[in-house]
Amino acid sequence: MNTLSSRLIVVSNRLPIVVSSTEEGWKISPGSGGLVTALAPVMKQNRGLWIGWPGCGDEAPLQELFARFGQEEGYRLHPVPLTEEEVERYYWGFSNETLWPLFHDLLGNCNFSLDNWKTYVQVNERFAQAIIEVCEPADILWVHDYQLTLVGSCLRAHGVTQTVGYFHHIPFPSLDLFRRLPWGRELIRGLMEYDLLGFQTLQDRRNFIHCVISLVPDTEVVRRHRRHTTLRYGAREVRIGHYPISIDFNEFNDAAASKEVEEAAWFLHENLQERQLLLGIDRLDYTKGIPERLLAYERALEKYPELKQKISLLQVVVPSRTMVPDYRDLKGQLDQLTGRINARFSEYGWIPVHYVYRSLDRVQLLAHYRASEIAFITPLRDGMNLVAKEYCASSINNNGVLILSEFAGAADQMGKQALLVNPYDIEGTADAIYRAFTMSPSERHRRMWALRADIRRNDVHRWVSRFVETLQRSRKKSENSASKN
Ligand code: UDP
Repeated sequence: MNTLSSRLIVVSNRLPIVVSSTEEGWKISPGSGGLVTALAPVMKQNRGLWIGWPGCGDEAPLQELFARFGQEEGYRLHPVPLTEEEVERYYWGFSNETLWPLFHDLLGNCNFSLDNWKTYVQVNERFAQAIIEVCEPADILWVHDYQLTLVGSCLRAHGVTQTVGYFHHIPFPSLDLFRRLPWGRELIRGLMEYDLLGFQTLQDRRNFIHCVISLVPDTEVVRRHRRHTTLRYGAREVRIGHYPISIDFNEFNDAAASKEVEEAAWFLHENLQERQLLLGIDRLDYTKGIPERLLAYERALEKYPELKQKISLLQVVVPSRTMVPDYRDLKGQLDQLTGRINARFSEYGWIPVHYVYRSLDRVQLLAHYRASEIAFITPLRDGMNLVAKEYCASSINNNGVLILSEFAGAADQMGKQALLVNPYDIEGTADAIYRAFTMSPSERHRRMWALRADIRRNDVHRWVSRFVETLQRSRKKSENSASKN
């Protein structure tokens, strides 16, 4: 991406760092993950500044650590300190127990608490104040995700008029679901204070627009464009587009081809010889559809006995949000289901489910992608699902098959070449396992080749460029109209 005319300020709930206390003293290292990989080069090029919660209390010498980080990484950090109670109510409470399940269509998992909502509003205001402390009028501002929906409106309340963009990483629900949120109108009005709103899919974008038109009476559609819709809200114009997030294709492709990964993949498969590996990799989360997936696998073994001894499910579950009771219950359910399937079907020399409850290091993650003949990715709902894209980018021999939930954002781009399933349809998902298992090498190759070509073209760097360029255009437009008035 070209150098921007201004400094880029990124705002997210967490700063892209890990701060830890070691025997040699405090350490700061860059976090991992697609967003950091994608934004780091742009931040370096554009004297960037990243604002967010550092994930630790004031026991760490942040000023000194941030100075070191700035020198090593080429962009600066600015902390938004939060108390334990704020983290509890704003992050664990309202963000993770209300917005997360509601936006993933899982109303039954929602906890609606007025106290949590009030803290959420307060913390969004705190983020806005942190931005005001360091922001200059020429800066480009880009706010990320559902924890910070109200930052734009807090900035406007302080008289900030500059262009602010927002990207929503998780799904946006239908009006019918969204209306259940007692503070829905405030939230949607808050979002309309941004200048550019980005969603993962066209459906998310449509859901949002439907909510705005229904719940905010003084809005109207000004223009519809393939890439975005423009709404008039009071005196302002707001652009709403969809920008499917992606991965650094080359990084996965190259690392998967390395000697180290190749050997690790060989060992993995050597231990599980003469069978196809079916891979599930997920954070522990009730949105990922892991119990339904296990039931579908169990049904496939029942319905297609020829799969016995010839297929094994590797299910990796990365511990996550274990403080939230629903997540602890899910862990118990998975332990029980995997135990039941293994007790029911195991034979000497063959275990149907290999269940791992921990995170994998990079080499092991890539080795799992490379060694597995089939990826089995069946969330009940997902903003995008990067594992699906990473699996394809690592399938360097074009021999993997992707079974993908139609309710993952990734299905929009990958649905033609993947085997799409409804994760609630246990019978249909079991049939998809059998279809993947029996798919001919030439069909696998044709499908995977097309999937990889699409991810290579639409990688995460393109995602950043598209969003930031549109944000710059929104800014130019509002500067022009301000100078005319
Ligand atoms: N991942 C990881 N370690 C693991 C397993 C997965 O770092 O042991 C990463 C994986 O590479 C991917 C991310 O976790 O980038 C999961 O992203 P996804 O969009 O699939 O789901 P999310 O967890 O964000 O809902």
